[in-house]
Amino acid sequence: GEARRGGPGYIWAKHLRTGVGRNVIDIRDLKLQFGDVKVLDGVTMKIPNNVIYVIMGPSGSGKSTILRVLNRLVELYKPKIEGEVYLDGQDIFKMPLSLLRRRVQMVFQIPNPIPTLSIWENVALGPKLNRLVKSKAELQERVRWALEKAQLWEEVKNRLDAPAASLSGGQQQRLCIARALAFKPEVLLMDEPTANLDPVNTAKIEELMLELKKEMTIVLVTHYPPQAARVGDWVAFLYGGKIVEEGPVREVFTRPRHELTEKYVTGKI
Ligand code: ADP
Ligand code: MG
Repeated sequence: GEARRGGPGYIWAKHLRTGVGRNVIDIRDLKLQFGDVKVLDGVTMKIPNNVIYVIMGPSGSGKSTILRVLNRLVELYKPKIEGEVYLDGQDIFKMPLSLLRRRVQMVFQIPNPIPTLSIWENVALGPKLNRLVKSKAELQERVRWALEKAQLWEEVKNRLDAPAASLSGGQQQRLCIARALAFKPEVLLMDEPTANLDPVNTAKIEELMLELKKEMTIVLVTHYPPQAARVGDWVAFLYGGKIVEEGPVREVFTRPRHELTEKYVTGKI
Protein backbone atom coordinates (compact mmCIF):
# COMPACT_ATOMS: atom_id res chain seq x y z
CA GLY A 1 0.00 0.00 0.00
CA GLU A 2 0.81 3.69 -0.08
CA ALA A 3 2.27 3.80 3.43
CA ARG A 4 4.97 1.30 2.60
CA ARG A 5 6.53 3.29 -0.19
CA GLY A 6 9.94 4.55 0.82
CA GLY A 7 10.21 2.47 3.99
CA PRO A 8 9.33 3.28 7.57
CA GLY A 9 10.73 6.81 7.50
CA TYR A 10 7.96 7.69 5.09
CA ILE A 11 5.12 6.85 7.41
CA TRP A 12 6.58 8.18 10.65
CA ALA A 13 8.07 11.37 9.33
CA LYS A 14 5.01 13.32 10.38
CA HIS A 15 4.87 11.94 13.89
CA LEU A 16 8.40 12.19 15.12
CA ARG A 17 9.61 15.08 17.18
CA THR A 18 13.26 14.35 16.65
CA GLY A 19 15.24 13.17 13.66
CA VAL A 20 12.27 13.55 11.38
CA GLY A 21 12.34 11.10 8.50
CA ARG A 22 16.01 10.35 9.05
CA ASN A 23 17.21 6.80 8.65
CA VAL A 24 19.64 6.08 11.46
CA ILE A 25 20.48 2.74 9.93
CA ASP A 26 20.57 2.10 6.23
CA ILE A 27 21.46 -1.43 5.13
CA ARG A 28 21.77 -1.96 1.39
CA ASP A 29 21.80 -5.38 -0.23
CA LEU A 30 23.77 -7.02 2.57
CA LYS A 31 25.12 -10.44 1.70
CA LEU A 32 27.14 -12.48 4.13
CA GLN A 33 28.63 -15.94 4.14
CA PHE A 34 30.75 -18.00 6.50
CA GLY A 35 32.98 -20.16 4.30
CA ASP A 36 30.56 -21.68 1.79
CA VAL A 37 27.49 -21.13 3.95
CA LYS A 38 25.36 -18.23 2.78
CA VAL A 39 23.65 -16.67 5.76
CA LEU A 40 22.35 -13.31 4.50
CA ASP A 41 21.15 -13.10 0.95
CA GLY A 42 20.57 -9.47 0.02
CA VAL A 43 19.07 -7.75 3.05
CA THR A 44 17.95 -4.14 2.71
CA MET A 45 16.61 -2.21 5.70
CA LYS A 46 16.00 1.43 6.41
CA ILE A 47 15.51 2.13 10.09
CA PRO A 48 14.38 5.59 11.22
CA ASN A 49 15.02 7.25 14.55
CA ASN A 50 12.82 6.68 17.59
CA VAL A 51 11.25 3.40 16.59
CA ILE A 52 11.36 -0.19 17.68
CA TYR A 53 12.27 -2.05 14.51
CA VAL A 54 11.72 -5.76 14.95
CA ILE A 55 13.56 -8.46 13.06
CA MET A 56 11.43 -11.55 13.44
CA GLY A 57 12.00 -15.01 12.08
CA PRO A 58 12.71 -18.63 12.89
CA SER A 59 15.90 -19.89 14.44
CA GLY A 60 18.77 -19.91 11.96
CA SER A 61 17.23 -17.30 9.65
CA GLY A 62 20.11 -14.87 10.24
CA LYS A 63 18.62 -12.43 12.77
CA SER A 64 21.56 -12.38 15.17
CA THR A 65 23.96 -12.12 12.26
CA ILE A 66 22.31 -8.87 11.14
CA LEU A 67 22.76 -7.42 14.64
CA ARG A 68 26.38 -8.60 14.72
CA VAL A 69 27.00 -6.85 11.42
CA LEU A 70 25.56 -3.62 12.82
CA ASN A 71 28.18 -3.48 15.59
CA ARG A 72 30.77 -5.36 13.50
CA LEU A 73 31.01 -8.13 16.07
CA VAL A 74 30.59 -10.53 13.16
CA GLU A 75 34.12 -9.73 11.96
CA LEU A 76 35.41 -12.04 14.68
CA TYR A 77 34.26 -14.94 12.52
CA LYS A 78 35.89 -13.63 9.31
CA PRO A 79 32.84 -13.77 7.06
CA LYS A 80 32.68 -12.60 3.47
CA ILE A 81 30.53 -9.46 3.45
CA GLU A 82 29.04 -7.59 0.51
CA GLY A 83 26.75 -4.59 0.54
CA GLU A 84 26.69 -1.34 2.44
CA VAL A 85 25.73 -0.34 5.96
CA TYR A 86 25.40 3.26 7.06
CA LEU A 87 24.94 4.70 10.53
CA ASP A 88 23.49 8.16 10.23
CA GLY A 89 24.95 8.41 6.72
CA GLN A 90 28.42 7.13 7.66
CA ASP A 91 29.82 3.87 6.33
CA ILE A 92 30.21 1.65 9.42
CA PHE A 93 33.03 -0.33 7.83
CA LYS A 94 35.13 2.83 7.57
CA MET A 95 34.42 3.98 11.10
CA PRO A 96 36.85 3.45 14.00
CA LEU A 97 35.49 0.40 15.81
CA SER A 98 35.53 2.10 19.21
CA LEU A 99 33.36 4.92 17.88
CA LEU A 100 30.90 2.48 16.30
CA ARG A 101 30.63 0.46 19.50
CA ARG A 102 29.97 3.59 21.51
CA ARG A 103 27.13 4.59 19.21
CA VAL A 104 25.67 1.11 18.70
CA GLN A 105 25.31 -0.96 21.85
CA MET A 106 24.01 -4.49 22.22
CA VAL A 107 22.11 -6.58 24.75
CA PHE A 108 22.28 -10.36 24.43
CA GLN A 109 19.84 -13.18 25.05
CA ILE A 110 21.66 -14.49 28.10
CA PRO A 111 22.30 -11.75 30.67
CA ASN A 112 26.08 -11.39 30.83
CA PRO A 113 27.13 -8.90 33.48
CA ILE A 114 30.58 -9.44 34.96
CA PRO A 115 29.36 -11.48 37.93
CA THR A 116 32.08 -10.63 40.43
CA LEU A 117 32.08 -6.90 39.75
CA SER A 118 29.64 -4.76 41.67
CA ILE A 119 26.38 -3.55 40.20
CA TRP A 120 27.83 -0.04 40.07
CA GLU A 121 31.09 -1.11 38.40
CA ASN A 122 29.29 -3.06 35.70
CA VAL A 123 27.61 0.13 34.54
CA ALA A 124 30.50 2.51 35.24
CA LEU A 125 33.16 0.50 33.42
CA GLY A 126 32.15 1.46 29.86
CA PRO A 127 32.09 5.24 30.33
CA LYS A 128 35.27 5.05 32.46
CA LEU A 129 37.37 2.99 30.04
CA ASN A 130 36.15 4.96 27.05
CA ARG A 131 36.61 8.30 28.78
CA LEU A 132 33.03 9.36 28.12
CA VAL A 133 32.84 11.39 31.33
CA LYS A 134 35.07 14.12 32.67
CA SER A 135 34.69 13.75 36.41
CA LYS A 136 33.71 11.41 39.19
CA ALA A 137 30.51 13.39 39.67
CA GLU A 138 29.63 13.05 36.01
CA LEU A 139 30.27 9.32 36.20
CA GLN A 140 27.98 8.98 39.24
CA GLU A 141 25.32 10.87 37.39
CA ARG A 142 25.72 8.75 34.25
CA VAL A 143 25.47 5.47 36.19
CA ARG A 144 22.38 6.59 38.03
CA TRP A 145 20.78 7.83 34.81
CA ALA A 146 21.44 4.49 33.08
CA LEU A 147 20.08 2.46 36.00
CA GLU A 148 16.98 4.65 36.11
CA LYS A 149 16.36 4.26 32.37
CA ALA A 150 16.78 0.50 32.75
CA GLN A 151 14.19 0.68 35.56
CA LEU A 152 16.58 -0.91 38.01
CA TRP A 153 17.63 2.04 40.16
CA GLU A 154 14.93 1.72 42.81
CA GLU A 155 15.75 -1.96 43.31
CA VAL A 156 19.53 -1.53 43.63
CA LYS A 157 20.19 1.97 44.92
CA ASN A 158 20.94 0.67 48.42
CA ARG A 159 23.17 -2.17 47.28
CA LEU A 160 25.26 -0.72 44.45
CA ASP A 161 28.37 -2.39 45.87
CA ALA A 162 26.86 -5.88 45.81
CA PRO A 163 28.17 -8.23 43.13
CA ALA A 164 26.11 -8.42 39.95
CA ALA A 165 25.74 -12.16 40.51
CA SER A 166 23.53 -11.41 43.52
CA LEU A 167 20.77 -10.08 41.24
CA SER A 168 17.92 -12.16 39.83
CA GLY A 169 17.96 -13.09 36.14
CA GLY A 170 15.53 -10.34 35.22
CA GLN A 171 17.53 -7.78 37.22
CA GLN A 172 20.77 -8.96 35.59
CA GLN A 173 19.26 -8.39 32.17
CA ARG A 174 18.18 -4.87 33.18
CA LEU A 175 21.72 -4.35 34.49
CA CYS A 176 23.03 -5.29 31.04
CA ILE A 177 20.61 -2.79 29.51
CA ALA A 178 21.91 -0.13 31.92
CA ARG A 179 25.49 -1.03 30.97
CA ALA A 180 24.60 -0.51 27.31
CA LEU A 181 22.75 2.74 28.03
CA ALA A 182 25.73 4.13 29.96
CA PHE A 183 27.36 4.70 26.55
CA LYS A 184 24.40 6.91 25.57
CA PRO A 185 24.07 5.00 22.31
CA GLU A 186 22.04 6.12 19.31
CA VAL A 187 21.11 2.53 18.56
CA LEU A 188 20.36 -0.28 20.98
CA LEU A 189 20.52 -3.78 19.52
CA MET A 190 18.55 -6.32 21.52
CA ASP A 191 18.95 -9.98 20.62
CA GLU A 192 16.02 -11.92 22.11
CA PRO A 193 16.49 -9.99 25.37
CA THR A 194 13.56 -11.67 27.14
CA ALA A 195 13.90 -15.22 25.85
CA ASN A 196 15.23 -16.43 29.20
CA LEU A 197 12.88 -14.42 31.41
CA ASP A 198 9.52 -14.99 33.08
CA PRO A 199 6.42 -13.01 31.99
CA VAL A 200 6.77 -10.36 34.73
CA ASN A 201 10.36 -9.55 33.85
CA THR A 202 9.53 -9.73 30.15
CA ALA A 203 6.78 -7.14 30.65
CA LYS A 204 9.20 -4.85 32.52
CA ILE A 205 11.69 -4.95 29.68
CA GLU A 206 9.01 -4.41 27.05
CA GLU A 207 7.80 -1.38 29.01
CA LEU A 208 11.25 0.13 29.28
CA MET A 209 11.86 -0.39 25.56
CA LEU A 210 8.77 1.67 24.80
CA GLU A 211 10.18 4.46 26.99
CA LEU A 212 13.66 4.20 25.50
CA LYS A 213 12.57 4.58 21.91
CA LYS A 214 11.77 8.22 22.67
CA GLU A 215 15.54 8.75 22.97
CA MET A 216 17.08 6.23 20.59
CA THR A 217 16.42 3.57 18.02
CA ILE A 218 15.91 -0.01 19.09
CA VAL A 219 16.50 -2.97 16.81
CA LEU A 220 14.84 -5.91 18.49
CA VAL A 221 15.34 -9.49 17.40
CA THR A 222 12.72 -12.03 18.36
CA HIS A 223 11.51 -15.43 17.25
CA TYR A 224 8.27 -14.79 19.12
CA PRO A 225 5.61 -12.99 17.03
CA PRO A 226 3.45 -11.82 19.99
CA GLN A 227 6.38 -9.74 21.27
CA ALA A 228 6.81 -8.14 17.86
CA ALA A 229 3.11 -7.32 17.87
CA ARG A 230 3.22 -5.83 21.38
CA VAL A 231 6.18 -3.49 21.07
CA GLY A 232 7.18 -3.15 17.43
CA ASP A 233 6.57 -0.19 15.17
CA TRP A 234 7.99 -1.79 12.07
CA VAL A 235 8.71 -5.46 11.50
CA ALA A 236 10.84 -7.36 9.01
CA PHE A 237 10.13 -11.06 8.64
CA LEU A 238 13.38 -12.85 7.90
CA TYR A 239 13.45 -16.36 6.47
CA GLY A 240 16.51 -18.13 5.12
CA GLY A 241 18.59 -14.95 5.13
CA LYS A 242 16.04 -12.97 3.13
CA ILE A 243 13.39 -10.47 4.12
CA VAL A 244 10.15 -12.09 3.01
CA GLU A 245 8.07 -9.10 3.99
CA GLU A 246 8.35 -5.91 6.02
CA GLY A 247 6.03 -3.15 7.04
CA PRO A 248 4.19 -1.48 9.91
CA VAL A 249 3.55 -4.12 12.56
CA ARG A 250 -0.22 -3.82 12.40
CA GLU A 251 -0.26 -4.35 8.64
CA VAL A 252 2.07 -7.30 8.64
CA PHE A 253 0.11 -9.02 11.37
CA THR A 254 -3.40 -8.31 10.12
CA ARG A 255 -2.82 -8.37 6.37
CA PRO A 256 0.32 -10.40 5.63
CA ARG A 257 1.07 -10.37 1.93
CA HIS A 258 3.00 -13.61 1.83
CA GLU A 259 1.86 -17.07 2.77
CA LEU A 260 5.08 -17.68 4.70
CA THR A 261 4.47 -14.59 6.84
CA GLU A 262 0.91 -15.61 7.52
CA LYS A 263 2.05 -19.08 8.58
CA TYR A 264 4.74 -17.61 10.80
CA VAL A 265 2.58 -15.07 12.62
CA THR A 266 -0.13 -17.67 13.22
CA GLY A 267 2.40 -20.14 14.62
CA LYS A 268 2.15 -22.68 11.79
CA ILE A 269 5.88 -22.68 11.04
P1 ADP B 1 19.23 -16.59 14.18
O1 ADP B 1 19.72 -15.54 15.11
O2 ADP B 1 18.12 -16.13 13.28
O3 ADP B 1 18.85 -17.86 14.88
P2 ADP B 1 21.98 -16.64 13.25
O4 ADP B 1 22.21 -15.31 12.65
O5 ADP B 1 22.53 -16.90 14.59
O6 ADP B 1 20.41 -16.98 13.18
O7 ADP B 1 22.57 -17.77 12.29
C1 ADP B 1 22.19 -17.89 10.94
C2 ADP B 1 22.92 -19.05 10.32
O8 ADP B 1 24.32 -18.77 10.26
C3 ADP B 1 22.79 -20.34 11.09
O9 ADP B 1 22.65 -21.40 10.17
C4 ADP B 1 24.10 -20.44 11.84
O10 ADP B 1 24.45 -21.77 12.08
C5 ADP B 1 25.06 -19.78 10.87
N1 ADP B 1 26.20 -19.15 11.56
C6 ADP B 1 26.12 -18.15 12.46
N2 ADP B 1 27.33 -17.78 12.90
C7 ADP B 1 28.22 -18.57 12.25
C8 ADP B 1 29.65 -18.71 12.25
N3 ADP B 1 30.41 -17.91 12.99
N4 ADP B 1 30.20 -19.63 11.45
C9 ADP B 1 29.44 -20.43 10.68
N5 ADP B 1 28.10 -20.37 10.63
C10 ADP B 1 27.49 -19.46 11.40
MG1 MG C 1 19.86 -15.57 17.18
